[in-house]
Amino acid sequence: MVEDDSAIADAVLYCLRRDGMHAEVAETLAAARCATEGALPDVVVLDLGLPDGSGFSLIPELMRSASCPRVIVLTSRDEDVECVAALEAGADDFVTKPFSPRALAARVRAVARRGEPRSEREASLGLVVDSLGRQASFSGKDLGLTKIEFDLLAVLAEAPGRVRTREHLVARVWGEEYILAERTVDSHFKGLRRKLAEAGAPATLVETVRGVGFTLREAR
Ligand code: CA
Repeated sequence: MVEDDSAIADAVLYCLRRDGMHAEVAETLAAARCATEGALPDVVVLDLGLPDGSGFSLIPELMRSASCPRVIVLTSRDEDVECVAALEAGADDFVTKPFSPRALAARVRAVARRGEPRSEREASLGLVVDSLGRQASFSGKDLGLTKIEFDLLAVLAEAPGRVRTREHLVARVWGEEYILAERTVDSHFKGLRRKLAEAGAPATLVETVRGVGFTLREAR
Protein backbone atom coordinates (compact mmCIF):
# COMPACT_ATOMS: atom_id res chain seq x y z
CA MET A 1 0.00 0.00 0.00
CA VAL A 2 1.32 3.40 -0.99
CA GLU A 3 -0.35 5.94 1.32
CA ASP A 4 1.03 8.87 3.33
CA ASP A 5 -1.94 9.14 5.73
CA SER A 6 -0.91 6.76 8.49
CA ALA A 7 -4.42 6.53 10.00
CA ILE A 8 -5.81 5.27 6.67
CA ALA A 9 -2.81 3.00 6.07
CA ASP A 10 -3.02 1.46 9.55
CA ALA A 11 -6.74 0.70 9.23
CA VAL A 12 -6.31 -0.93 5.81
CA LEU A 13 -3.20 -2.90 6.81
CA TYR A 14 -5.07 -4.20 9.84
CA CYS A 15 -7.89 -5.54 7.63
CA LEU A 16 -5.56 -7.03 5.02
CA ARG A 17 -3.43 -8.80 7.63
CA ARG A 18 -6.47 -10.04 9.51
CA ASP A 19 -7.55 -11.60 6.19
CA GLY A 20 -4.24 -13.46 6.06
CA MET A 21 -2.56 -11.25 3.49
CA HIS A 22 0.99 -10.03 3.78
CA ALA A 23 0.83 -6.24 3.57
CA GLU A 24 3.39 -3.45 3.79
CA VAL A 25 3.06 0.31 3.51
CA ALA A 26 5.24 2.88 1.75
CA GLU A 27 4.53 6.53 2.58
CA THR A 28 6.14 8.17 -0.44
CA LEU A 29 6.75 7.46 -4.12
CA ALA A 30 10.45 7.10 -3.36
CA ALA A 31 9.77 4.55 -0.63
CA ALA A 32 7.40 2.65 -2.93
CA ARG A 33 10.02 2.46 -5.68
CA CYS A 34 12.52 1.20 -3.12
CA ALA A 35 10.13 -1.39 -1.71
CA THR A 36 9.21 -2.77 -5.15
CA GLU A 37 12.80 -3.07 -6.40
CA GLY A 38 12.98 -6.75 -5.50
CA ALA A 39 9.84 -8.85 -5.61
CA LEU A 40 6.67 -6.99 -6.57
CA PRO A 41 3.45 -7.56 -4.61
CA ASP A 42 0.40 -9.17 -6.28
CA VAL A 43 -1.68 -6.08 -5.61
CA VAL A 44 -0.70 -2.43 -5.13
CA VAL A 45 -3.14 -0.07 -3.38
CA LEU A 46 -1.99 3.31 -4.60
CA ASP A 47 -2.89 6.73 -3.20
CA LEU A 48 -2.62 9.45 -5.85
CA GLY A 49 -1.83 12.35 -3.51
CA LEU A 50 1.64 11.63 -2.12
CA PRO A 51 4.16 14.05 -0.56
CA ASP A 52 6.71 13.64 -3.36
CA GLY A 53 4.33 13.58 -6.33
CA SER A 54 1.30 11.83 -7.81
CA GLY A 55 0.97 8.10 -7.35
CA PHE A 56 -0.12 8.12 -10.97
CA SER A 57 3.51 8.20 -12.10
CA LEU A 58 4.05 4.78 -10.54
CA ILE A 59 1.42 3.02 -12.69
CA PRO A 60 3.37 2.86 -15.98
CA GLU A 61 6.42 1.57 -14.08
CA LEU A 62 4.35 -1.20 -12.47
CA MET A 63 2.73 -2.11 -15.82
CA ARG A 64 6.14 -2.44 -17.47
CA SER A 65 7.38 -4.87 -14.81
CA ALA A 66 7.38 -8.57 -15.62
CA SER A 67 4.95 -9.55 -12.85
CA CYS A 68 2.58 -6.66 -13.69
CA PRO A 69 0.76 -6.34 -10.34
CA ARG A 70 -2.93 -5.46 -10.01
CA VAL A 71 -3.41 -1.81 -9.05
CA ILE A 72 -6.23 -0.25 -7.02
CA VAL A 73 -6.08 3.55 -6.99
CA LEU A 74 -7.24 5.65 -4.02
CA THR A 75 -8.63 9.04 -4.96
CA SER A 76 -10.38 12.06 -3.52
CA ARG A 77 -13.55 13.24 -5.21
CA ASP A 78 -11.75 16.09 -6.97
CA GLU A 79 -9.31 13.72 -8.67
CA ASP A 80 -11.86 12.31 -11.11
CA VAL A 81 -9.95 13.06 -14.29
CA GLU A 82 -6.75 11.58 -12.92
CA CYS A 83 -8.63 8.49 -11.86
CA VAL A 84 -9.96 7.79 -15.36
CA ALA A 85 -6.42 8.34 -16.65
CA ALA A 86 -5.20 5.82 -14.07
CA LEU A 87 -7.62 3.19 -15.40
CA GLU A 88 -6.49 3.88 -18.94
CA ALA A 89 -2.87 3.52 -17.83
CA GLY A 90 -3.63 0.01 -16.57
CA ALA A 91 -5.03 0.34 -13.05
CA ASP A 92 -7.72 -2.26 -12.28
CA ASP A 93 -10.01 -0.21 -10.13
CA PHE A 94 -10.32 2.90 -7.99
CA VAL A 95 -11.78 3.61 -4.58
CA THR A 96 -12.91 7.10 -3.56
CA LYS A 97 -12.05 8.45 -0.11
CA PRO A 98 -13.51 8.16 2.44
CA PHE A 99 -13.93 4.41 2.14
CA SER A 100 -14.41 1.44 4.41
CA PRO A 101 -11.09 -0.36 5.04
CA ARG A 102 -12.98 -3.68 5.13
CA ALA A 103 -14.54 -3.01 1.72
CA LEU A 104 -11.13 -2.11 0.31
CA ALA A 105 -9.64 -5.34 1.72
CA ALA A 106 -12.44 -7.26 -0.04
CA ARG A 107 -11.55 -5.55 -3.33
CA VAL A 108 -7.89 -6.43 -2.86
CA ARG A 109 -8.88 -10.07 -2.38
CA ALA A 110 -11.07 -9.94 -5.49
CA VAL A 111 -8.41 -8.50 -7.79
CA ALA A 112 -5.76 -10.85 -6.39
CA ARG A 113 -7.90 -13.84 -7.39
CA ARG A 114 -8.23 -12.74 -10.99
CA GLY A 115 -6.38 -13.74 -14.10
CA GLU A 116 -6.45 -17.51 -14.44
CA PRO A 117 -5.12 -18.58 -17.81
CA ARG A 118 -7.69 -19.40 -20.50
CA SER A 119 -7.27 -21.40 -23.64
CA GLU A 120 -6.28 -19.72 -26.86
CA ARG A 121 -9.18 -18.58 -28.93
CA GLU A 122 -9.42 -17.10 -32.35
CA ALA A 123 -12.28 -14.72 -32.97
CA SER A 124 -13.73 -13.16 -36.06
CA LEU A 125 -12.25 -10.72 -38.52
CA GLY A 126 -8.51 -11.08 -37.97
CA LEU A 127 -8.69 -10.78 -34.19
CA VAL A 128 -6.49 -13.22 -32.27
CA VAL A 129 -6.75 -13.49 -28.50
CA ASP A 130 -3.94 -15.55 -26.99
CA SER A 131 -4.95 -16.09 -23.38
CA LEU A 132 -1.82 -17.97 -22.34
CA GLY A 133 0.50 -15.35 -23.75
CA ARG A 134 -1.99 -12.67 -22.68
CA GLN A 135 -1.66 -10.96 -26.04
CA ALA A 136 -4.26 -9.78 -28.47
CA SER A 137 -3.63 -8.77 -32.06
CA PHE A 138 -5.59 -7.59 -35.04
CA SER A 139 -4.31 -8.43 -38.53
CA GLY A 140 -1.04 -9.47 -36.92
CA LYS A 141 -0.62 -6.17 -35.07
CA ASP A 142 -0.23 -6.38 -31.29
CA LEU A 143 -2.95 -4.26 -29.67
CA GLY A 144 -0.94 -3.40 -26.55
CA LEU A 145 -3.93 -3.81 -24.24
CA THR A 146 -3.96 -3.21 -20.52
CA LYS A 147 -4.76 -6.23 -18.32
CA ILE A 148 -8.39 -5.22 -17.93
CA GLU A 149 -8.86 -4.42 -21.62
CA PHE A 150 -7.41 -7.82 -22.45
CA ASP A 151 -9.63 -9.65 -19.95
CA LEU A 152 -12.78 -7.91 -21.25
CA LEU A 153 -11.89 -8.76 -24.85
CA ALA A 154 -11.09 -12.38 -23.91
CA VAL A 155 -14.54 -12.84 -22.36
CA LEU A 156 -16.24 -11.43 -25.47
CA ALA A 157 -14.03 -13.55 -27.75
CA GLU A 158 -15.21 -16.76 -26.06
CA ALA A 159 -18.56 -16.43 -27.80
CA PRO A 160 -18.62 -13.93 -30.68
CA GLY A 161 -22.13 -12.68 -31.35
CA ARG A 162 -23.26 -13.34 -27.81
CA VAL A 163 -24.14 -10.28 -25.74
CA ARG A 164 -22.36 -10.10 -22.39
CA THR A 165 -23.97 -7.92 -19.75
CA ARG A 166 -21.93 -5.48 -17.71
CA GLU A 167 -22.70 -7.61 -14.63
CA HIS A 168 -21.32 -10.71 -16.35
CA LEU A 169 -18.20 -8.88 -17.46
CA VAL A 170 -17.61 -7.41 -14.01
CA ALA A 171 -18.06 -10.84 -12.38
CA ARG A 172 -15.67 -12.49 -14.83
CA VAL A 173 -13.02 -9.78 -15.00
CA TRP A 174 -13.15 -8.19 -11.54
CA GLY A 175 -14.68 -11.06 -9.57
CA GLU A 176 -18.03 -12.19 -8.23
CA GLU A 177 -19.80 -9.77 -5.88
CA TYR A 178 -17.70 -6.94 -7.19
CA ILE A 179 -19.53 -3.61 -7.28
CA LEU A 180 -18.25 -1.32 -9.98
CA ALA A 181 -19.41 1.98 -11.46
CA GLU A 182 -20.83 1.59 -14.98
CA ARG A 183 -18.51 4.27 -16.29
CA THR A 184 -15.49 2.30 -15.06
CA VAL A 185 -16.41 -0.55 -17.41
CA ASP A 186 -17.21 1.93 -20.19
CA SER A 187 -13.90 3.68 -19.73
CA HIS A 188 -12.00 0.39 -20.18
CA PHE A 189 -14.05 -0.34 -23.31
CA LYS A 190 -13.18 3.11 -24.62
CA GLY A 191 -9.50 2.28 -24.39
CA LEU A 192 -10.04 -1.14 -25.95
CA ARG A 193 -11.96 0.33 -28.88
CA ARG A 194 -9.37 3.01 -29.48
CA LYS A 195 -6.60 0.41 -29.70
CA LEU A 196 -8.66 -1.81 -32.02
CA ALA A 197 -9.37 1.19 -34.27
CA GLU A 198 -5.69 2.10 -34.33
CA ALA A 199 -4.91 -1.44 -35.52
CA GLY A 200 -7.43 -1.01 -38.35
CA ALA A 201 -10.34 -3.00 -36.90
CA PRO A 202 -13.86 -1.93 -37.94
CA ALA A 203 -15.60 0.29 -35.40
CA THR A 204 -18.41 -2.29 -35.17
CA LEU A 205 -16.13 -5.14 -34.02
CA VAL A 206 -16.87 -4.51 -30.35
CA GLU A 207 -20.43 -3.31 -30.19
CA THR A 208 -22.37 -1.69 -27.36
CA VAL A 209 -25.86 -3.14 -26.98
CA ARG A 210 -27.57 -0.19 -25.36
CA GLY A 211 -28.88 -0.88 -21.89
CA VAL A 212 -27.60 -4.46 -21.97
CA GLY A 213 -23.89 -4.85 -22.48
CA PHE A 214 -21.31 -5.62 -25.12
CA THR A 215 -20.72 -8.12 -27.90
CA LEU A 216 -18.04 -9.09 -30.36
CA ARG A 217 -19.42 -9.10 -33.90
CA GLU A 218 -19.25 -12.38 -35.79
CA ALA A 219 -17.62 -12.50 -39.21
CA ARG A 220 -20.17 -12.27 -41.96
CA1 CA B 1 -2.44 11.23 0.38
